[in-house]
Amino acid sequence: METLAIVGGGIAGLSSAYFLLQQAQARKRPLRLYVLEASDRWGGVIRTVREDGFVVEGGPDSVLAFKPAGVELWKALGLASEIVGTVPGRRAFIYFQGRLHPLPEGLTLMIPARLGPLFRTSLLSPWGKLRAAWNLVMRTRTPPGQDVSVADFVMRHLGREVFEHIVEPLFAGIYAGDARQLSLRATYPQLLDLEQTYGSLLRGLLHRVRQQRAAAQRRGRPASAFVTLRGGLARMVEALVAHLQGRASLHLRSQVRALQPRKSGWRLHLADGSTLDADGVVLALPAHAAARVVETFDPELAGLLAGIPYASSVIVNVALKREDVTHPLEGSGFVVPRVEGRPLLACSWTSSKFPHRAPQGFVLLRCFFGRAGADDVVNWPEEDILALTRRELRETMGIATAPVRTWVFRWRPALPQYPVGHLERVEAIFSRAGQWPNLSLVGNAYRGVGIPDVIAGARRMAKAFDAHQGADNT
Ligand SMILES: Cc1cc2nc3c(=O)[nH]c(=O)nc-3n(C[C@H](O)[C@H](O)[C@H](O)COP(=O)(O)OP(=O)(O)OC[C@H]3O[C@@H](n4cnc5c(N)ncnc54)[C@H](O)[C@@H]3O)c2cc1C
Repeated sequence: METLAIVGGGIAGLSSAYFLLQQAQARKRPLRLYVLEASDRWGGVIRTVREDGFVVEGGPDSVLAFKPAGVELWKALGLASEIVGTVPGRRAFIYFQGRLHPLPEGLTLMIPARLGPLFRTSLLSPWGKLRAAWNLVMRTRTPPGQDVSVADFVMRHLGREVFEHIVEPLFAGIYAGDARQLSLRATYPQLLDLEQTYGSLLRGLLHRVRQQRAAAQRRGRPASAFVTLRGGLARMVEALVAHLQGRASLHLRSQVRALQPRKSGWRLHLADGSTLDADGVVLALPAHAAARVVETFDPELAGLLAGIPYASSVIVNVALKREDVTHPLEGSGFVVPRVEGRPLLACSWTSSKFPHRAPQGFVLLRCFFGRAGADDVVNWPEEDILALTRRELRETMGIATAPVRTWVFRWRPALPQYPVGHLERVEAIFSRAGQWPNLSLVGNAYRGVGIPDVIAGARRMAKAFDAHQGADNT
């Protein structure tokens, strides 16, 4: 019987186990599967706390609905009835020059894509609006195959103001990254495709908006952009673990220190001194952890993996009495541009987006700290983080009262950054790893940081493993 070991029990590792077992079952091929997780809980950065009627997300809190892999897996796990969307029509805001401005309507792929709202927004000066509209008559194309930073691309098409006041904070809110360095090809390649087709980003986006409108009319109801699970995203982890129990051998507190290639297969060396032999290994780890595990037998691969930069972040969830918050909280929350010079990256009005997450009479807010280059906040003492949170909420939203509950989650280096050239590095990593038989890499370090991207990557890996009985790393 073939033996496979998956190292890492985050969503990448657990969904890899799910898909590998599914393939083996379909082929009627017996498979002995181990999942080894270093910490004492499953789920990696997915962490939900349920306390006194609050559903508090410590890491991710929802997934993009238009990327189907997440929702498909939830349905396959029997979670369809637990899926909830954001309240449709909730607007997002940008904190700029001392107040909250609504995001222009019709944002597509994180870029303002409708002329009316673009001209009406209070986020741009008259010159900034003219500069953006000028793109309609521009013809500019990035040379095919070339990578470019999000900042250079957006500024070339729409000008500095659109980038600094609107696009930068939206990207930072997702990647906790510096959009001046983020690779467009690795994050939003669709924008490059539009540019290639139309020669102008705005013309391409206007066309896309028309298509989306037609699709929405066919659907007949507004779709939620983000979806989650009623009991929190940990429900997906719990359902996966329940599904795997009895089908795979699941081990917490099992840190893998090193991998050793053998004549046939692999030997895994664990931190407690024990070893495990397997025919194949899937490394479902952050790139820096994968680098340490492969270092002894392939320093070049380790170097490539270690070269993927990571950011740390802190999420502070704050519960307040509704009567203590004068702000109407009619929206989904706000992001803060880097040019504002504030430590707060974003604040989600969680209980406005997902009302079930706070009990009656309370609101739940979620503050995101850890701007690229200034993420040392992750090492601050808890009381300092809380004092910072209260100051930021007071100065941005006028909330002066003390919270009734707070939950602080620190994520040390957990969010991979995709700098310009990232996809070339990923290709080099996969081609190097592909030289070793039955070694695969999955996770958020490579081709997408969102949960649906990670699940889709695990599904691809399982298919490739099945097809080749070996490392594919497509
Ligand atoms: C704060 C935050 C907010 C986010 N928000 C969203 C969101 O709203 N929506 C969204 O779609 N995505 C979001 N993401 C991204 C998404 O959550 C992650 O990309 C995804 O969950 C990563 O899964 P993973 O399995 O690749 O990695 P991880 O979750 O990091 O799991 C890796 C696992 O490997 C284990 N491990 C490490 N070293 C070893 C070893 N040597 N041996 C054994 N085990 C080891 C770790 O303990 C960990 O459990 C967010 C991420 C963060 C950090």
